[in-house]
Amino acid sequence: MESLKSKLVKFMTGRYGADQLYYAMLVLVVGLILVNMLVDSVILMGVSNAILLLLIFRSFSRNISKRRVENDKFLKIWNPIKREVKLLFRRFKEIGVHRYRKCPSCKKMLRLPIKRGKHMVKCPTCQEKFEVRVIV
Ligand SMILES: [Zn+2]
Repeated sequence: MESLKSKLVKFMTGRYGADQLYYAMLVLVVGLILVNMLVDSVILMGVSNAILLLLIFRSFSRNISKRRVENDKFLKIWNPIKREVKLLFRRFKEIGVHRYRKCPSCKKMLRLPIKRGKHMVKCPTCQEKFEVRVIV
């Protein structure tokens, strides 16, 4: 007799499974369910159930190439947001030690040691010099 684990492995063989879009949709569904506990809306429940069905459909799908394209599209939107949020947390964490300024010429974010007042900064990437003012 087959064990439950081997039956599950056999069932999932050739199916897509979970990816970043799957987890994002899962977090969204849980968030919608939590919000719906407060507002008790039929529309919100319908939307969260539709997302849940889509999530289940995607993870059991055998059309792996199409699911990968969907995930890549999601990551194209998600990765810049993730990068900005990470930078925001890093800026907050290092608020007593560093200041972050964008180079006006190459737009690269520079991490500068705190030096109060006006001073010149040279970008290590494009060698452009620009003035930086640190007040606090
Ligand atoms: Zn630069």
